[in-house]
Amino acid sequence: MRTTGTTGAIAGRLEQLRGELPTRNHNARTVAALAANPGCARRGVLDAAGIEKTVLAERLGFPARYGRSPFAIGRGNVFEARVKADDGRELRRLLAEVLGADPDDGALLDVDGAMGSAGPTGPTTSTDRPGRPGREERVARTREALLRAASGDPDACAILDHPLLPLDVAGRRAYLEPDAMACRVAGRLHVVEIKSFAIIDGSADPGKLASATRQAAVYVHALRGLAEELGLDPESVSTDIVLVCAQDFANRPIAVVLDVRRELATTRRRLARLSGVEELFAELPEGLTFDVAEERVGAAVARVPAAYLPDCLSACELALFCRNEARGCGTGGGVGTLGTSVRGALGGIDDIGTALALADGTRAPEPGQEDVARLLRRAQALRHEALGGVG
Ligand code: SF4
Repeated sequence: MRTTGTTGAIAGRLEQLRGELPTRNHNARTVAALAANPGCARRGVLDAAGIEKTVLAERLGFPARYGRSPFAIGRGNVFEARVKADDGRELRRLLAEVLGADPDDGALLDVDGAMGSAGPTGPTTSTDRPGRPGREERVARTREALLRAASGDPDACAILDHPLLPLDVAGRRAYLEPDAMACRVAGRLHVVEIKSFAIIDGSADPGKLASATRQAAVYVHALRGLAEELGLDPESVSTDIVLVCAQDFANRPIAVVLDVRRELATTRRRLARLSGVEELFAELPEGLTFDVAEERVGAAVARVPAAYLPDCLSACELALFCRNEARGCGTGGGVGTLGTSVRGALGGIDDIGTALALADGTRAPEPGQEDVARLLRRAQALRHEALGGVG
């Protein structure tokens, strides 16, 4: 991935796109959300320009209904504090269970220098702890802790609490803060993500699980970058991450190990694409800017192709605008509104109207559409039969 800042013509183009619109720095959630829809050029352009999409969504007349409620944030903080209480006793037990770590090994080092300030009844986040060191100091502490762990220092920490990892996103520096990192398990580092959603009978909400996995993959990517910068083997950062959740309805912490290799590859590709913004610009009209009067902003955004998916509703601020646009495209809307599996199954057919016409035989398939058309006609016949000949 290219990590240098965007310069010259590219920087000018980004500035022109953004105008006076407010900007936003990336964090782990926004970087992870990039991987939710890697094929969307619209999101790529907006993110490369660093535009605050919440503001853009409001100007478009489709305010974002996206983000965590204060209640969910508070519950998450209480759960995390409980897992890390008593010098990380519960966390050590869980890491021993799933990774075979020694529960009595080493210390839990808080990079904030404020461990224990948020007890189970005090839902303060690490971002609002009083007396918190600056970001660069926290990055320096993270670096030092990693080097000590890698050198086999017997006094090095076993668990790093709220490390801070720098990451360049399209030439802008972002700071990512994993919940914790297990530093000394068979010479490898493991990212630990603590989420308060429940695993019930071994299953979790697929959307929440996917989002947590993508976020953890972003941390693995940033941590590998930092390891490389320190002269350590990036492979020492494991792609097996530890997810700590609540078990059933009892709120008792439970840990599972998840392999994030697939999400890591997607994140890398997406970040590389953001850095290579020239490709994204190739198709854009000269002089395009999103900083226009409210009645013209929809037309400006529509100049950049989107790839709407139902997943966008939980991952992108522009989802309501893009859904509305996708439903209105062609005759009956784009097939993307029906989800990735349907879009994949209908490969080459872009709108629902065409799919319906192929299904009822009112439209002849074009070259390459014959197989899909046969399946659609078969599905139509089955539907007709199931409805007793009235469908
Ligand atoms: S909501 Fe729109 S801009 Fe955002 S990822 Fe989906 S299609 Fe792209």
